[in-house]
Amino acid sequence: MAKKQYAIIGMGRFGSSVAKALSGMGYDVLAIDTDEQRTQEISGIVTHAVSADSTDEEALRALGIRNFDVVVVAIGEDIQASILTTLILKDLGVPAILVKARNELHGKVLSKIGADKIIYPERDMGLRVAHHLASPNILDYIELSPDYSILDMKVPKQMLGKNLLELDIRAKYGCNVMAIRRGDEMNITPRAEDRLADGDVLVIVGHKDNLTRLEMAYH
Ligand code: ATP
Repeated sequence: MAKKQYAIIGMGRFGSSVAKALSGMGYDVLAIDTDEQRTQEISGIVTHAVSADSTDEEALRALGIRNFDVVVVAIGEDIQASILTTLILKDLGVPAILVKARNELHGKVLSKIGADKIIYPERDMGLRVAHHLASPNILDYIELSPDYSILDMKVPKQMLGKNLLELDIRAKYGCNVMAIRRGDEMNITPRAEDRLADGDVLVIVGHKDNLTRLEMAYH
């Protein structure tokens, strides 16, 4: 299977981290920014870096943007440019368009015009940090949908030495323990009789309200 080709528009902090990470994973990446200095800075890392204005349809056409499997629009501040770019990409027939949104309203417009995925980096990171601050056992919090999330929870003292059957998290909180991480090992088929040790991390999926109940109970 041919390797996926990615184009990233906007080399701010978010766009450039995505571009660097994909390049590091061995993918072909085209980086686009109006600011020549920004494209210069990333040019040594990605496959191609060009200075272009993504609100210029002809410029995007000339870059052959429709041949990319995924295009990420990482323009934050200029909401108008972000929306216009998304519209053009959609019109040109790009198969997958991911857009960074600045706020809910921006996200709503993006979804109406057909963006395939809308990313709220600041909001999501804020959510993760807040959960960790409210209860330090929560190492990570990832939103799967408006209603469901995944929680990484360091096993609290009250759970030490107990097994999953005794804890009965599914019946008590309606959440599912998907995996138990112990150091570098990941047990992805946890069983009822698996006992929890100090330092273990539970990976739990559930409805947000149920996860909150669980977080509160083991605060
Ligand atoms: P971050 O938080 O990721 O640093 P940001 O949300 O502050 O970014 P901006 O700085 O507004 O986002 O935009 C990111 C980059 O997108 C900038 O380098 C900017 O030059 C570039 N950019 C803005 N408009 C366009 C455009 N029309 N075409 C191409 N690049 C653009």
